[in-house]
Amino acid sequence: MDDDLKHLISGREASQRSDHNGYKYCPRCRGVLVISAVEEKVRPHCPACGFIYYQNPTPAAGAVIVRDKTILLVQRSIDPRKGDWCLPAGFMEWDEHPRQTAVRELKEETGLEIKITGIFEIFFGMDDPRTHAVLILYLADAVGGILQAGDDALDARYFRFGELPDNIAFQAHRDALALYRRRYLEA
Ligand SMILES: [Zn+2]
Repeated sequence: MDDDLKHLISGREASQRSDHNGYKYCPRCRGVLVISAVEEKVRPHCPACGFIYYQNPTPAAGAVIVRDKTILLVQRSIDPRKGDWCLPAGFMEWDEHPRQTAVRELKEETGLEIKITGIFEIFFGMDDPRTHAVLILYLADAVGGILQAGDDALDARYFRFGELPDNIAFQAHRDALALYRRRYLEA
């Protein structure tokens, strides 16, 4: 693997070994799933109707908002990692572009309206117990709204880079914070 990719793959050591979500029955015909090689990988599949379960990572999007050398973080109000801090981000809805996801999540979690100015980086996180996640992080500016923690956040506020909380929820977010400092603050 090339070195550039190494620091974008986060939490590999904490990855849950795939159990195919524990699925045992076909969601189409209720037949018993067989777990064996299909298209070069072991996947649950249904001999009765031909259904194949492809377990894919889940895409998520969010934004890095930096103002006067402080960065916006939110405190999680739900598990996993309730009480820990992370960059504002969330899973994509079925009919969203990731830019829309980032704008929506920022509004929901922090009350802020943002203007996206570029792409920061794309991470692959393997330490979320719900799913492996593809985390698309944009660079953005806050252009409106009032900063306040939303429904799914305990708190939302800016931190100085030297005073970030120790309990950052996921390795991809820790890696993102470290990469931001290396790329934009120490360059
Ligand atoms: Zn079936």
